[in-house]
Amino acid sequence: MAFEGLSERLQGAMTKIGKKGKITEADLKEMMREVRLALLEADVNFKVVKEFVKKVNERALGSDVLESLSPTQQVIKIVNEELTELMGGQQEPFQFSAKPPTVVMMVGLQGAGKTTTAGKLANYMKKKENKRPMLVAADVYRPAAINQLQTLGKQLDFPVYALGTEANPVDIAKQAIEQAKLDGRDLVIIDTAGRLHVDEVLMTELKNIKAAVNPTEILFTVDAMTGQDAVNVAQSFNEQLGITGVILTKLDGDTRGGAALSIRSVTGKPIKFTGQGEKLEDFEPFYPERMSSRILGMGDLMTLIERAQQDFDETKAAEMAAKIRENTFNFNDFIEQMDQVTNMGPLEDLLKMIPGMSNVPGLDQMKIDPKDVAHMKAIVLSMTPAERENPELLSQSRRRRISKGSARSLAEVNRLIKQFNESRDMMNKMSKGNFAGMEGLLGQ
Ligand code: GDP
Repeated sequence: MAFEGLSERLQGAMTKIGKKGKITEADLKEMMREVRLALLEADVNFKVVKEFVKKVNERALGSDVLESLSPTQQVIKIVNEELTELMGGQQEPFQFSAKPPTVVMMVGLQGAGKTTTAGKLANYMKKKENKRPMLVAADVYRPAAINQLQTLGKQLDFPVYALGTEANPVDIAKQAIEQAKLDGRDLVIIDTAGRLHVDEVLMTELKNIKAAVNPTEILFTVDAMTGQDAVNVAQSFNEQLGITGVILTKLDGDTRGGAALSIRSVTGKPIKFTGQGEKLEDFEPFYPERMSSRILGMGDLMTLIERAQQDFDETKAAEMAAKIRENTFNFNDFIEQMDQVTNMGPLEDLLKMIPGMSNVPGLDQMKIDPKDVAHMKAIVLSMTPAERENPELLSQSRRRRISKGSARSLAEVNRLIKQFNESRDMMNKMSKGNFAGMEGLLGQ
């Protein structure tokens, strides 16, 4: 998982002092030393680290943190805010031109994920912004890049403007925009050539395209796994071409995190999107705050809730909450919830987003087998409607019948019913206690 080492070390540094009720200046110093090492090890630029540690120290010492009742929480809050700030503070939105079409140049080194990301961006803009994108194949040096874009275009049903490998990239870009105007396409995404290293010829070509098409966005695509290199290359592209934003790809890999944490600070340009996998849907706007709390293991509650809201029927969620509160949650509800949660994605991923859960030892190794879910469902579906409504009816003889009907062992049936009863009690308690606020968040 991305940022794993960094998360672990930062959390380690925080929990070490977290055990103390009161912390001293020396404790704080020791903690900041660990934070510094954690960041350096994650390949964060050393100047960025120095500045970061200085800021956190100043804030922690300048306020009355050490005197407060919960000094660790205060320090974590400061670290979280400064990490967020380091990555740009706010989410920086994609800019559209006042007059369509909006022109985007995708730039970056070969293999960074530029072509794939051009397709992801087009797909995202169509779905979320209702745009009508056109893709432009201006990488004439690699016939494979043109084919790749054409395949993406077919898959997504977007036109791809290509003139083969003989044409001049500047002409291709200019003509593509004329064509887009004729066809009523309001977003033109130009896939430009990449090289293995930054070189003069490439930069000149990109500058020429820029001058000819006056793009609203020049998005530098970079592989997050390349760490410090990513930052240096971003810096060169920015100095020579003037980029408007960065797209960080391959955040699904085990990147140490240095690029995400340094790019904004070194280049002054925001990370606008991230790529988190090879599929077209694996693409999201970059939210500094969410990334920071994820790194700190505070859980990505916002994303979790958003996903829950996307997939949950709100009236249903309200009904469920009421049932939990009144302790009338039954096996029909259980099945329904199981279906909804399964639709939200792998359970282990969801668990990790819950604050505090990323610290639970062994969660990394935990895999929830879809087969287990299917077995649980088979057991519930072998209950009669009356039993599902009223789990108290489930006597031993009924349980034996259910075991036969679902072809699962009696022990498994007993275990599920026990788990169901326990979780019902727990949910009921939570609905009255600590988690009372959750209902409001889930749209009640
Ligand atoms: P380009 O040379 O910059 O155009 O790079 P490509 O778009 O051809 O991508 C290079 C490789 O990276 C391909 O195998 C992509 O599937 C892969 N790739 C791109 N983005 C991501 C990502 O976010 N995650 C992962 N795991 N792979 C990616």
